[in-house]
Amino acid sequence: MILSNPTGDKRMPFTKEEQGEFLRRVAEIQDGSGKSFVLAVYELLDRLEREAISESDPCFACHRGCGLCCSQLVSCTQIEWREIRDYLLSLDQQTRYWIQRHLADFAGVWSRYIAKHPNIVQTPSDYARVLRHWVGKPCPFLGDEGECIIYPVRPIECRTCYSTQLCTAPVGSEGVVIYPFAFQKIASTVLIDRQIQGQGGRPPVLCSPLLAWLEISPI
Ligand code: SF4
Ligand code: SF4
Repeated sequence: MILSNPTGDKRMPFTKEEQGEFLRRVAEIQDGSGKSFVLAVYELLDRLEREAISESDPCFACHRGCGLCCSQLVSCTQIEWREIRDYLLSLDQQTRYWIQRHLADFAGVWSRYIAKHPNIVQTPSDYARVLRHWVGKPCPFLGDEGECIIYPVRPIECRTCYSTQLCTAPVGSEGVVIYPFAFQKIASTVLIDRQIQGQGGRPPVLCSPLLAWLEISPI
């Protein structure tokens, strides 16, 4: 029973004005804290989620160590990946060493998968098939005790998923309740816009699985 972002509705569930207001608040956070754009977006998203959740008052079952939702393929934009890398590289040497050894187990996993399934990610329906292939396989950042080892910089996909009862499957549990928080969609949109701007308006690789980033830009 995952309370998650949007609705499958392809229309923008928010107005340009709301997006402008979101960006204004992101800039305010950046001015006040010196945070990067991505981290300021995360901070605002977390704040808005907390407010919305406390208003609607659902009782979530999610807790540290409950990582069933982390056993699937998670993707992020390149600008989010840079934050993850910077975060990991900023950790103390001993922790970094442990994480590098942990990640070594995942080295080559994505390229072997792509070699076995050439041309699999050409269309959105292919991507749905890829997601199905990875259900039940752990995210590379899932720690030994079911915790997220990059929790402060986990990607936006991981920040918009809640459940009111313990999930019994990584995805597609029965009785899914959707909270259509428009600001979650705004947050994804502004990150993708920023990614496009950073690539000079060229058609970008917007999002890739964490496993793919790990191979493109190892830690
Ligand atoms: S969404 Fe489900 S699997 Fe993930 S932390 Fe919450 S209860 Fe656990
Ligand atoms: S990045 Fe963290 S929260 Fe997201 S799927 Fe991986 S372990 Fe779970």
